Amino acid sequence: MEIRRKLSYQFILIVALILLLSFISIYISVSSFRKETFYARLESRALSVAQLLIDVDEINAELLRKIEKSSSSGLPYEQISIFDYHNELIYTSDEKNGIIFDTAQINEVRLKNELRIKERNFEILGLFYKSKYDRFVVFIGARDVFGLEKLSNLRLILLIVFFISLIIVLFAGLFYSDRALSPIIKVMGQVDKIGVSNLNQRVDEGNGKDEIARLASTFNEMLERIESAFKVQKNFISNASHELRTPLTIITGQLEIVLLNEREPQEYKTVIQSVLEDIRNLNKISDRLLMLAQTSSEVAKINFSAVRVDDLLWLVTNEIVKRKPEYKVSITLNEDLDDENMLTISGSEQLLKTAFSNLIENACKYSPAEKKVVVALKNDSESLQISFKDNGIGIPDEDIEMIFQPFYRGRNSLEYSGSGIGLSLAERIVKIHSGQLKVNSKMGEGSEFILIFPLLHPSKL
Ligand code: ADP
Repeated sequence: MEIRRKLSYQFILIVALILLLSFISIYISVSSFRKETFYARLESRALSVAQLLIDVDEINAELLRKIEKSSSSGLPYEQISIFDYHNELIYTSDEKNGIIFDTAQINEVRLKNELRIKERNFEILGLFYKSKYDRFVVFIGARDVFGLEKLSNLRLILLIVFFISLIIVLFAGLFYSDRALSPIIKVMGQVDKIGVSNLNQRVDEGNGKDEIARLASTFNEMLERIESAFKVQKNFISNASHELRTPLTIITGQLEIVLLNEREPQEYKTVIQSVLEDIRNLNKISDRLLMLAQTSSEVAKINFSAVRVDDLLWLVTNEIVKRKPEYKVSITLNEDLDDENMLTISGSEQLLKTAFSNLIENACKYSPAEKKVVVALKNDSESLQISFKDNGIGIPDEDIEMIFQPFYRGRNSLEYSGSGIGLSLAERIVKIHSGQLKVNSKMGEGSEFILIFPLLHPSKL
């Protein structure tokens, strides 16, 4: 059900309950007030008639009937019966149609002093009356025609007011819930119109103060994040396809040129070697892209195990030096690193290998003079620190913030081969190992990349 209708119905229910309770209490109090005043009138009338008959010697039943007929008491259909102490009827105002009272009722009046009976629309009051010499029971009955009519009028009015109020409340509820929800509906309409093609659009934040404005601003913040993620994604795809297309274009060009004429076998060999080099490069780029995608999700954490960092660094170094013998890698361990637990972290060997080899290769690549990197391991009680220090070209201050973004290449490194994926990959790998990656660098003097990993304590092994 729509919130608008739900609110209105709940509102109606609450108002209906309040009205019902107040109308019922009004009706009950008016009705009991009518009853009490009517019985009070019956009592005063009964007493005055009894007094006349019993205490005034000159008045007998016959005379009293005549007096009663000629004077109006204001009590409609009034009937009075008086019984003496033998329960003998000594007076009745209506000899033909008078209400008959039985002995039990008369005795009950004697016992309780007062009795109220309802019979044939008559409200009857039985009273115990004591005179100087005797004790009597007086019954007086009448119909409260006016009082009951007023009461039924009141009932009708209350019913009409009740239903009219409910109708008014229903429309008022719909109107106000409409007004209250219209800003939300407006926001919904605006959000509905935002799609991939117009992600730069924002929702109207209205007065900027109330809850709806907060909702709109939350939407806008979310749109901001989606838009920037979308931009990053778009750039990533275009950069990735550019990185893959360049070597492919070079390969195609080389092969086309070589096919134009008949060549010497040596020439074919040279071209094939060059194409092979390009394909290896292409392979490396696609491997790194794949790894970049893998490290973007938590799934990469699933294959974590205990990894000896020093062993892994030696392995990586051997592989690199085998491929590029001109690279010099020196690994130093702090003296107090004598316990193997201080060199063990929880991680993925494959991913850590990639991160280490990117950092070692970068350090050697960007120090063209000596092509050397010093890898130093230090520790404290909680973490292991690995630094990769070179005396190379350094990184311009303006680039430091950007070098961890995929495909970003420093402005002083464009003459070196590379695709700008290595560092961003290394940073993600460190992040999923709950580590930190810091960089200190000075243009022309060299760079130092520091990795800090939490240690895998013996208790966790
Ligand atoms: P690539 O080396 O393929 O360009 P990376 O992501 O590994 O991509 O590095 C990004 C950029 O960071 C490099 O283009 C370079 O400008 C800078 N950089 C990385 N390591 C070093 C280093 N050791 N010395 C100087 N600059 C570096």
